[in-house]
Amino acid sequence: MKTTHGGTYPVSAKSDRGAYQSKDTVPVPEPNYRRVMQMSVKKIIALCVIMMVLWGTPVYADQVHRVSPGETLNGIARFYGITTDSLLGSNQYIVNPDLIFPGQVLIVPDTGKHAYVVRPGDTLSQIAQSFGVPTAMLANINNISNPDFLYVGQILLVPNMYIVREGDTLPQIAQSLGVSISDLMTENNLRGPQSIYPGQTLSIPSRPTGREELAALDGEMGPIAARFPETFFYKGQPNGLRVALTFDDGPDRVETNAVLDILKQYQVPATFFLLGRSMPGNSDVVERIVAEGHTLASHTTNHFDIRELTEQELRTEMLTLENEVYDITGLRMALMRPPYGFINDANIRQLRDMGYKVVKWSVDTNDWRDIDVDQVLINTMPNIRDGSIILMHDYLPESMTKEVLPEIIQSLRSQGYTFVTVDELLGIDAYR
Ligand SMILES: [Zn+2]
Repeated sequence: MKTTHGGTYPVSAKSDRGAYQSKDTVPVPEPNYRRVMQMSVKKIIALCVIMMVLWGTPVYADQVHRVSPGETLNGIARFYGITTDSLLGSNQYIVNPDLIFPGQVLIVPDTGKHAYVVRPGDTLSQIAQSFGVPTAMLANINNISNPDFLYVGQILLVPNMYIVREGDTLPQIAQSLGVSISDLMTENNLRGPQSIYPGQTLSIPSRPTGREELAALDGEMGPIAARFPETFFYKGQPNGLRVALTFDDGPDRVETNAVLDILKQYQVPATFFLLGRSMPGNSDVVERIVAEGHTLASHTTNHFDIRELTEQELRTEMLTLENEVYDITGLRMALMRPPYGFINDANIRQLRDMGYKVVKWSVDTNDWRDIDVDQVLINTMPNIRDGSIILMHDYLPESMTKEVLPEIIQSLRSQGYTFVTVDELLGIDAYR
């Protein structure tokens, strides 16, 4: 079974070839047994998938800290029981660690706990033993008053430590924790695989940082950008701390106007990737976007996966919206963003020949998925760099985009960042 997870970037295939393959359409054989049986098989499969995904995978509950007057990075790090380096690691947008400002947002990384999904036949003491922690501690962390009452599929949080038992070996421990031996050794300053002793407390290495997420993004998008240096973009070059806010899927009478109000208040220019489907009745919103100094760009007419379209269909998807926007504003858009980020080389060539440049993103706020302001900040801030293109949305009713936006703007401004439109960030023309 193929699952796409990690979710940050819709095209998350390991190779470009993979990224460009269409969806799996493997026919499912019709099972012969009774319906009841099918249900339980489905359930078991679903459970296995959950367990495969979560087993040994750390889940981290990062937190947002809003700086108060007089606070220092060191003080904040101490308060949360983490090192200053680890705090800085999650906030690499910070240019000068000595200068943090009241109201600025910091992401506090959780070096905390792992998740364990309860399997058939598990007992609490057995689970505790396998992770090398006292049963009482496990019960306490998970608010379990009756240790006999565990259910299959229940998710338990396990502390980020392992107490070495008699007879343990490092490879065994690494395997049971789902981490590499070398990470475990580095994390605990171990000289060799033999240098562990019963009763020793090992700390479990933490998850990839923003740095590694961005490296994965470069690994995925870099080759495409290298094949189409004039046509395909997902971030800008570092150049004096500039970032670009982008909003997809509007215009929306309520949401786009609310976003425009905030951008106006903070004097921040942005880029709006318009969706043809959202246009009816909103031409005044489009006019306002232009009048207030923002850039218009295309997000196609119907939000299809364009890899599935014929050349003629993609042409229609682009031209319908392009002409509509031209009729309203007199501007002919030259930038486009593919829906879901899905695109292949043939699409890029066709769009290039039509006079378009493709602009994806390097920071996904996931503001459409997460409705919690803090969670959106946690998704966003650790990945911000000089040249970031930040993906947001302006079409969802009741979205928290309007609440999170001022904090993102103020935090980055306090560190000296400037907001620009994507065409300015990339040094390309927004219109033809
Ligand atoms: Zn979209």
